Amino acid sequence: MVAENGTKKTNQEETNNVLKSTQTVIHKALEKLGYPEEVYELLKEPLRMMTVKIPVRMDDGSTKIFTGYRAQHNDAVGPTKGGIRFHPGVTETEVKALSIWMSLKCGIVDLPYGGGKGGIVCDPRDMSFRELERLSRGYVRAISQIVGPTKDIPAPDVFTNSQIMAWMMDEYSRIDEFNSPGFITGKPLVLGGSHGRDSATAKGVTICIREAAKKQGIQIEGARVVVQGFGNAGSYLSKFMHDAGAKVVGISDAYGALYDPNGLDIDYLLDRRDSFGTVTKLFNNTISNKELLELECDILVPAAIENQITKDNAHDIRAKIVVEAANGPTTLEATEILTDRGILLVPDVLASAGGVTVSYFEWVQNNQGYYWSEEEVEEKLEKIMVKSFNSIYDTAQTRRVDMRLAAYMVGVRKMAEASRFRGWI
Ligand code: GLU
Repeated sequence: MVAENGTKKTNQEETNNVLKSTQTVIHKALEKLGYPEEVYELLKEPLRMMTVKIPVRMDDGSTKIFTGYRAQHNDAVGPTKGGIRFHPGVTETEVKALSIWMSLKCGIVDLPYGGGKGGIVCDPRDMSFRELERLSRGYVRAISQIVGPTKDIPAPDVFTNSQIMAWMMDEYSRIDEFNSPGFITGKPLVLGGSHGRDSATAKGVTICIREAAKKQGIQIEGARVVVQGFGNAGSYLSKFMHDAGAKVVGISDAYGALYDPNGLDIDYLLDRRDSFGTVTKLFNNTISNKELLELECDILVPAAIENQITKDNAHDIRAKIVVEAANGPTTLEATEILTDRGILLVPDVLASAGGVTVSYFEWVQNNQGYYWSEEEVEEKLEKIMVKSFNSIYDTAQTRRVDMRLAAYMVGVRKMAEASRFRGWI
């Protein structure tokens, strides 16, 4: 896959491994919690998976047929929820795994949702504004039967943004014959978006970094931070860490990485990045993504794509804390190696749950037609993230498991209980 940070290609085999690893940890978590095997059988794959073909009239007059997916993992707790990614490397298996992670995130931050995820195989970097609009609208028409404000609520993900959410909301509103802001989250503010949604994932990661640093006795002021990926999460996060007095010594994008032991000029880089998070092309003096990951630092934040820290480089990671802002950046073998080496790893399903949390706030505001201030959103997000971090940290300590297994244990419980009460298992 041509990654958001472009470090490597993710092939079908790697994606299969991502799903398999997720299933392995879910199995372990359910076992630890004492659930019977049929609970695992229910939760190991999405309940529903829709594959669609989307014909799009291109600007040159030709018609291109795109493939899209929408996975709904489990709706026992409530409607399913999760983003839509536009990416050439999207596969059915990846979307499945991502929908399971969404269920876990919703369980961890205790939202009344199950997990869902969507994806379209395309490269938005090669498409015009109008082509993207037609693709976005076509996708909504194709999946309209299984989505809706009380069924399955999409949101942004890799390479999708508030403009795409706006088109999708408009298309759904036409189909539904009502103004339906609650159909999708991550919308522009004027269309019922929430304050703080754009930066929510990074805010959540920042809170996890702060809490993890406290546990490890690391001061944020002056701490050396390396961020892989300069997309939505990576760019906001670099800014928040920089503003908190940390030294962001390394960042990367799809084409390379930048390193300065004295701290990078984050405001300058933010100013120069394009909407796909590309900035390193402007510099001659770059390092590789591999070198970036192995830099000596206090906090390493993989904020790009899957499978970045593997058994091949886990021994070379020189951070004290690894906080996963991307989905699935560390393999299971690497998780074990890092944990054995005493590196505190804050897993994706916890660290990146700030985005869906503020999406939930957006949906609540849409449903009640009453909108909150930025301060209200921030205060509520802060409380939820701190509580979730600590409950998982404590579970890891008391059950003597790593943070990832602890997070899965916390995340899976509500889904399993709701499925039991409904009489499904
Ligand atoms: N795509 C984001 C994620 O992976 C956000 C999902 C949402 O807001 O529903 O968590």
